[in-house]
Amino acid sequence: MGNKIFVTQPFLPPLEEFNEYLKKIWKSKWLTNNGPFHMELEQMLCEYMGVKHISLFSNGTLALITAIQAMKISGEVITTPYSFVATTHALWWNNIKPVFADIDPVTFNLDPDKVEAAITPKTTAILPVHVYGNPCNVIKLQKIADRYGLKLIYDAAHSFGVKIKGTSLATYGDLAILSFHATKVFNTFEGGAIICHDEITKQHIDQLKNFGIINETTVLTPGINAKMNEFQSALGILQLKYLDEAIGKRKFITERYRELLEEIPGLTIMKDVPGVEYNFAYFPILIDYVKFERTRDEVYNKLKSHNIFSRRYFYPLISQFPTYKGLPSADPANLPIAEKITQQILCLPIYPDLEINNVERVCDLVIG
Ligand SMILES: *Cc1c(COP(=O)(O)O)cnc(C)c1O
Repeated sequence: MGNKIFVTQPFLPPLEEFNEYLKKIWKSKWLTNNGPFHMELEQMLCEYMGVKHISLFSNGTLALITAIQAMKISGEVITTPYSFVATTHALWWNNIKPVFADIDPVTFNLDPDKVEAAITPKTTAILPVHVYGNPCNVIKLQKIADRYGLKLIYDAAHSFGVKIKGTSLATYGDLAILSFHATKVFNTFEGGAIICHDEITKQHIDQLKNFGIINETTVLTPGINAKMNEFQSALGILQLKYLDEAIGKRKFITERYRELLEEIPGLTIMKDVPGVEYNFAYFPILIDYVKFERTRDEVYNKLKSHNIFSRRYFYPLISQFPTYKGLPSADPANLPIAEKITQQILCLPIYPDLEINNVERVCDLVIG
């Protein structure tokens, strides 16, 4: 049986290196509120991604909630049912009605034509997700946003490090949010960020994440507390040093999975799109039970019985959770592609330290 293998395992740098940062924090006693490590990490991330402005957050969900506040979005927002629940919850926390549109059968991202068809006079924004780090159709979505005067906010939680023709995916849209949760490609234990395009927006977001405080005597807006602390920031600085190596290991694992699974009838694996640099955050496969002669859940349970914990990301669809199920757009008839994919999807284990013999064992169990 061996040890348990989970769908992911957080990457951590050597503890001795982190201890050096802890010593500095103990000495300065500066624990949070835009401390030196926070400022250094913002600078480093801007350079790494080639962006001008970033605002760090305690987690990705608060970044998303704040991004929606910052854009003064209201009414209805068109989004995807095929994501982690935080995407839609962030709208709910802003008193916005989510409108679900169907996804593309190849990328699993929002289908721009379905987005356009879902626009009403109440629509104020589009909230797509780059699922598994695969880029949305950013050009078409921007055209639709421009044509109808809508804001475009990307949930880029899966796509840290992903580039299109050398440009970071996080630069697309009015705002993009990142998650640095333990399960993501780059982690700060928990953490997140908003990427924006001008100094004024950056200042506004910085104020919103710190109670709306401007100075000692002025509180301008009803902000929240969503600041990243110095411990998270210090970890982030260290993690960046190892990031390219970690992504390289993920790529190696992805290639082995592909070699072993791509010819198997009934299995579909995602293909790289030319011009995109991936982060290999996930390894999703589709299992067509007619051709494969086993259902996704049979494969999932078999792996589980061998202590391998794959995940059905994303099942069920967000539109099937009680909060959203009653919405007209949550009707399965409105979301046929998402309904199909959610029954077939399985994410196999992938993380930098996953050994190749374990990748091979996972594949043997899936196929056998
Ligand atoms: C992880 C994730 C989030 C939330 O990020 P947290 O940092 O865990 O709050 C939001 N959206 C998607 C698509 C995610 O995968």
